[in-house]
Amino acid sequence: MKNFLANVDYTAVPVPPDFIPSLQTPQQQILWVGCSDSQIIETDTLNVPRQEFFVHRNLGNKLSNGDTSSLSAIELCVEVIQVKHIIVCGHYGCGLINTHSDIKSYAGWLSSLNDLETVSEDKFGHGSGVEERDRRLVELNVLAEVHWIMQQPSIMKAIRERGLEVHGFVYNPVRNSCVKLEISPANIS
Ligand SMILES: [Zn+2]
Repeated sequence: MKNFLANVDYTAVPVPPDFIPSLQTPQQQILWVGCSDSQIIETDTLNVPRQEFFVHRNLGNKLSNGDTSSLSAIELCVEVIQVKHIIVCGHYGCGLINTHSDIKSYAGWLSSLNDLETVSEDKFGHGSGVEERDRRLVELNVLAEVHWIMQQPSIMKAIRERGLEVHGFVYNPVRNSCVKLEISPANIS
């Protein structure tokens, strides 16, 4: 994971509201993994009715921590509901994913942030301001989750056999819209 993040190149591009077309039927087609403290229903940034989302929230939009709730959400959505998309959506200004969060010491849930901080500092240096470093940490956290998801056998199988797509988003509260983190082709193996 650290090697992937240390070498990854990515860009953040705006997500148009019609990025995913509505099915026009109340059938869940998107597993949306969001953060508990975002204070907004980010799914509304897409022109897709709420009935078409299966929303899973926790501290820091993590699926990789191995808890039964997250693993069950993946199994249900990928193998039973057979969603067409998985979106991991962080948010700028997150009170949990930042370089000065005390939450990392609580029960270890966000202990992986220590690694992300190290990667971020190594990759981008110490010169930037706190806000910029926090934004990068939010982005790296989303990229780390997407990277983990893409390595799960059930998800690899769904991508191969029925075209499941996995996306990394970050919600921008100032613009009330999301950006999509696009990894450079050279980083995709
Ligand atoms: Zn948050």
